[in-house]
Amino acid sequence: MIKTRFAPSPTGYLHVGGARTALFSWLYARQQAGSFVLRIEDTDLERSSQASITAILQAMDWLGLDYDEGPYYQTQRMERYREVIERLLAEGKAYRCYCTREELDTLRAEQQARKQKPRYDGRYRDYQGPPREGVTPVIRFRNPLDGEVVIDDLIRGRITISNRELDDLVIMRADGSPTYNFCVVVDDWDMGITQVIRGDDHINNTPRQINIFQALGVTPPQYAHVPMILGSDGSRLSKRHGAVSVLQYRDAGYLPEALLNYLLRLGWAHGDQELFSREQMLELFSLTSVNHAAASFDPDKLLWLNQQYIKQADAARLGALLHEHYMHIGVNPNDGPEPQAVAEAYRERARTLREMAENSRFLYQDFEHYDPAMASKQLKPAAVEPLSALRQQFVDLETWQPAAIHAAMEAVAERLQLKFGKIGPPLRVAVTGGAGSPSLDVTVALLGKPRTLQRIDRALATIE
Ligand code: GLU
Repeated sequence: MIKTRFAPSPTGYLHVGGARTALFSWLYARQQAGSFVLRIEDTDLERSSQASITAILQAMDWLGLDYDEGPYYQTQRMERYREVIERLLAEGKAYRCYCTREELDTLRAEQQARKQKPRYDGRYRDYQGPPREGVTPVIRFRNPLDGEVVIDDLIRGRITISNRELDDLVIMRADGSPTYNFCVVVDDWDMGITQVIRGDDHINNTPRQINIFQALGVTPPQYAHVPMILGSDGSRLSKRHGAVSVLQYRDAGYLPEALLNYLLRLGWAHGDQELFSREQMLELFSLTSVNHAAASFDPDKLLWLNQQYIKQADAARLGALLHEHYMHIGVNPNDGPEPQAVAEAYRERARTLREMAENSRFLYQDFEHYDPAMASKQLKPAAVEPLSALRQQFVDLETWQPAAIHAAMEAVAERLQLKFGKIGPPLRVAVTGGAGSPSLDVTVALLGKPRTLQRIDRALATIE
């Protein structure tokens, strides 16, 4: 059975690059009725944190990347790593190395002076003597001296590395802690992982890991190295390029399906199709057609996709999300129209839910001041007559619905012999303060009668 995993190190939030790797692993497993495992690689105690673990789990949940097993934690598997190290030692596939830090430093300096690549020279590989006094040894993996490692990467194709390039990796430190590359092998083995899909920053680890698999007599998984994501300036995507954490996108009012769709399209295409439902992703995605080259992150494209998904989202869900965003920006959603009605009116014009919440704030709270440019253009003495007439017409309205409101505005235009353009704009500034809004009849309907009348009064007072 196909089994993939996502194995983040909890040393920070889940960033979009990690989310993309998780998505590819998830898609690969799900589309083949396989299994998907979440493994938290928390052996770096100094850099790992519980807050980061929580953020990763929340982000996976928000994105809907569900896993069949895990989360497993490497810190809970120490016994197992030690057991495998014992076995390698017993079989002569690993050995104790008594080099001191000073000796290693000297070796490195000599190699650098000779313009050689610094590497461990294997001086304890065949050491048979007694333990060296005063030195707690590390344990090194006995890497093959000759031959080569071949990776048939599912994305990049064949990669061949000579064993001469690799030195004997430390698999257990002097303090007894197993090292990263070793733990990953034991985990991928024990968890029955068939395809390792991960960022290509790990590509140098892969030949080392394959050699350890081979020493254990285990067939290594297949590997797929996903190209990294670059910022607009061509450097690796980082905080400098704006939001890179998955949860930051959630808080900024993105829909998870928009982010997933964006991450899928980044370096992968199916003709010129832009929108992919979850079903279509599962049907069409193929690892082998992921681009080899690094992909550039384009925030505008993501924003555009988000807008498309907002347009087509279920109204009740959008209403519930808008409700949350009101809370985040200090708007009490009970002080105005049903958020769902607002979401339906605004869905065609908002790129994020946050923007939707901000732009419709005036429906719940009085604005502090008018947009100065709009006010000086629209709130002039010439607007007094139409605004007063509108007020009167509105007072008498019995049904507070867009159609009735529209009819009332038309009646005023007719009576005053004014074009609609002389009536609508001042009313819009009066009720919204100058913010962009849906059609006036819908906006006024959402605002409600008492608030509409108050706002007209305020505008009239401002003109005077
Ligand atoms: N823990 C590694 C990381 O977060 C991933 C290792 C792997 O996927 O093999 O970069």
